[in-house]
Order: sequence, then C-alpha cells, then structure tokens
Amino acid sequence: MEKRKVVIVGASHGGHEAAFEILNNYENVDVTLLEQSDYVSFMSCGMKLYLEGKTTGADDVRNFRPEDLKNRGGHMLNNTQATDINTYKKTVSVKDLKTGETRELPYDKLIISSGVNPASLDLPGIDLKNVFLMRGYDWAQKINDAQHDDSIKNVAIIGAGNGIAAAEVMRKAGKNVTLIDAGKKPLENYLNDIYTDEFEKILTENNINLAMETKVEGFTGSDKVEAVKTNNGEIKTDLVIIAVGVTPNTAWLDGTVDLYDNGYIKTDEYFRTNVPDIYAIGDAIFPFSIPANRRVPIPSAIAARHEAQYVVEHLFETTPSRPFAGIVGAQVLEAFGLHAVTTGINLKNAKRVGINAKEVIFKDSLRPDYIPAKENPEIYISLVYNADTHQVLGGSTLSTYDITGQANVLSLAIRNRLTLEDLAETDFFFSPTFDRQWNIINLVAQKALSYDKIV
Ligand SMILES: Cc1cc2nc3c(=O)[nH]c(=O)nc-3n(C[C@H](O)[C@H](O)[C@H](O)COP(=O)(O)OP(=O)(O)OC[C@H]3O[C@@H](n4cnc5c(N)ncnc54)[C@H](O)[C@@H]3O)c2cc1C
Repeated sequence: MEKRKVVIVGASHGGHEAAFEILNNYENVDVTLLEQSDYVSFMSCGMKLYLEGKTTGADDVRNFRPEDLKNRGGHMLNNTQATDINTYKKTVSVKDLKTGETRELPYDKLIISSGVNPASLDLPGIDLKNVFLMRGYDWAQKINDAQHDDSIKNVAIIGAGNGIAAAEVMRKAGKNVTLIDAGKKPLENYLNDIYTDEFEKILTENNINLAMETKVEGFTGSDKVEAVKTNNGEIKTDLVIIAVGVTPNTAWLDGTVDLYDNGYIKTDEYFRTNVPDIYAIGDAIFPFSIPANRRVPIPSAIAARHEAQYVVEHLFETTPSRPFAGIVGAQVLEAFGLHAVTTGINLKNAKRVGINAKEVIFKDSLRPDYIPAKENPEIYISLVYNADTHQVLGGSTLSTYDITGQANVLSLAIRNRLTLEDLAETDFFFSPTFDRQWNIINLVAQKALSYDKIV
C-alpha cells in the first residue's frame, strides 16, 4: 500500500507536535516537515532564560533536532520555504533557500503552522543598524551579542508588553534601559490596574526608565541608530529592540486559502481551511476561545500543540467525529522575580466582546498570619466573571512566590465553564506549610459573591 503523504509547513510548536503525533499514531504515512530557517525549532519561550545564561546553551533551546525526526522516520527539510500551493494538483511549491532550487512536493494532507513574524515599525530610520526585533533564533543571537557588547550602553525597548523581558535582560547586563510605550502602564493590555501598578513599581525600582504615553516617530543616526524620535523628544540610544506585536506569516498563501483581511487564516471548528485536505493551526489562525465564545487570536505554544494534536487525531476521518473544544488561553508575564499568570479573557476583552463582565481582586498573604513575613509572601488573585450567569471567564495571580498552580486551577474552571459558586465551595486541601485555611481560589470567589467568611 502506498504511503499517505503529509506535508507540514513550519517546524515550531504546531509543526513539531503534528509531525511527531502522526509518526507516533499512524502506520504508512510519509511525513515531511518544511522549515525556512536554518536552525530548526528554536523555542522563543526560552529566549529570556537563554539570554540570562540560565540554559544549557542556544543549541539546546529547541523542541527537537532534525535528526530526531529522521530517527522517527520523517523528513526534515530546513532552509526550505513553502512558496505556493497548487490546490488542483495537490502540490506545495518549495524553494531551497541555500541553492535557490525550486520543486513541487505532492501531498494528501497539508498542515500549515507558519505562525507569525514580529511586527516592525514602518518609520523613518527603521533600516539603521542596531534596530532589532525579538523572535526566533537569529534575533536571539543578535540580542545576546549586544548584551555582551560594551560599546552598547543605552538600550531603548519599544513595547511594554513582551518587551519587559528584553528590558530585564538588558538591565541585568548593566545597560541603561528605557522602555517606551504609547499606553499609560506597562502590560496594560494584559493585566488589571492593580497588577500593572505592581509591575510599574518593580521596573522602576530596578532602574528601568519608563517612557509611557510616548509615541515613537522614527529613528536617527548616521549608520547605527543613535536616538529614538518621539512625541516627547529624543531618547539617546545605542540599540533599539522592537516588541510591538506580530503579523501572520501568510503572504505566501494569498490566492490559495481564504484569509481574513488582517492576513490570519480562516478555519472551521475542525481546523479545515476552505480548501479540501488543507488544515491550519497555531498563531496564524484565530482559534475558538471558550470564555469569549468566539474566535480570537491566542498566541500560545500550548494552544498550537493542542490544535496539532486534535488535527492529527482526526486527520484521516471523512468528517471529524467531534469539533475542537476550544482554547482557554493562558500566559505568564514576569519581571525581576514578580510574575503574573493570566488565563482566559481579561475584563477589557470580555467587555469588548459584549459580555456583562465584572472583575474581583483579592489580596492577602499566602499563609496564616503567624508565619513570618519572609516566608509568607503577598499574593493577588483575580477573577473575571459574567455578572449575569456567574460563569468564570478569566483570572490571574500575581506574586513573587510561585502560585502558578492556582492559575492552572482557574484555567480548568474556565474550560469547564464553572461558576463563582463552584470555586467558592470546592474544598481544596489546607496546610499552613503551603496556604491558609481558605484557599485563595475560595476566597476570591467568595469575595465576588460577598460571602462573609472568617479568613
Ligand atoms: C519571546 C517570546 C516568548 C514566548 N513565550 C511563550 C511562553 O512562555 N509560553 C507560550 O505558550 N508561548 C510563548 N510564546 C509564543 C509561542 O512562541 C508561539 O505561540 C508559538 O511558537 C506558535 O507556534 P506556531 O507553530 O504557530 O508558529 P511559530 O512559532 O510562529 O513558527 C512558525 C514557523 O514556521 C516557519 N515558516 C513560516 N512560513 C514558512 C514557509 N512559508 N515555509 C517554511 N517555513 C515557514 C517559521 O520560520 C517558523 O519557524 C513566546 C513568543 C515569543 C516571541
């Protein structure tokens, strides 16, 4: 029997999961994974730890090595770009970026996980040297070289969302760092005002210069960048790192599969595109969000993996036996030891999609009052909920202590459409070694419901 041919575009989280799931679960399938980069499967999620020297090395910050796929019986083609699809002949046109050679690869099933590119700024001076972006192996290498370059003393980072990671790395490397953003507070698109105040405090305490409500107008310099021009004047700098969001990597699909106006790939609840036997997953699509009850962008490595796993499970069914359940969407934001985990949707986004939503925020110490302060950190926990139905739509934790596990409980609650009452009344374990009599998840839900508890 001839092998069924599956071609996968993009060897990051979605492509990696899809390739290995197929090889682990099916016989008689020929898997080819295409990747335009030379380096295969760099994990941008590990970039900060790599830059801080907390990994075993750049060559290890990846999901897999090309030979791992080969050893499992798959074909890894790096430096190979998918440039077009012939949907009638069922072939993908590919270009070898080293030799310039082109050829057609036949497929029975095609899975696209081509992800996103870091967005740049179309402003005067953008082509000056030392204006960097922040995603993938090549940029990670440039940022790493720059942090060890003593001639670079001043660093301007544009984007106080994911840019806070670069700010921390550069500050720890001894640079004078300015974080620029048009918004009022760092991380304001992700977190509530109380949390953003805490981040503002810790960034300031660690000598990051915050240039908020500042709009970048361009870059000046003769060869290398020397200053960022803004509506509030010039900021002298030797290096700029732009972290202002992403754009879908889908220009090569124009005219083949249907895209939204902003370039994201349209899929149905089975991740099928409008073209038979072509599927799309990962950051390049809008997956179904359980709490928003609609499709929204959810840039997340783990979302890409769940989507890949689902697609592979149903890849050879004529009609998939079940639709994909949806994504909750969770992420960690951290700076100088302070970390927030946010899951589901935040209040702003819940309101934006028309939900009558409210947020409750609870602050306390983690353990009973008789535990000394140094082992009894301050914690925050919040819930976003539907004020009419009490369904939990989102939540977040904030502390210098690891309370990420509690946020994972909130993700489970959101996925299962639990209510405030469910969270208020669940009995969690209690031990003063770890928490207090009422678990903080009980307490925040009880606060929303105005229960009168002795805490
Ligand atoms: C600095 C940083 C930190 C992050 N931290 C986290 C984290 O802690 N947790 C988390 O869940 N998420 C994190 N993310 C997000 C996460 O990396 C993405 O959600 C995830 O990588 C998406 O996977 P993907 O498969 O959709 O595509 P991408 O990771 O965007 O990769 C797409 C791949 O496809 C290749 N490609 C594109 N077009 C073609 C083509 N035409 N031909 C061949 N190859 C092509 C690209 O070169 C790339 O390798 C982080 C992202 C960044 C930038």
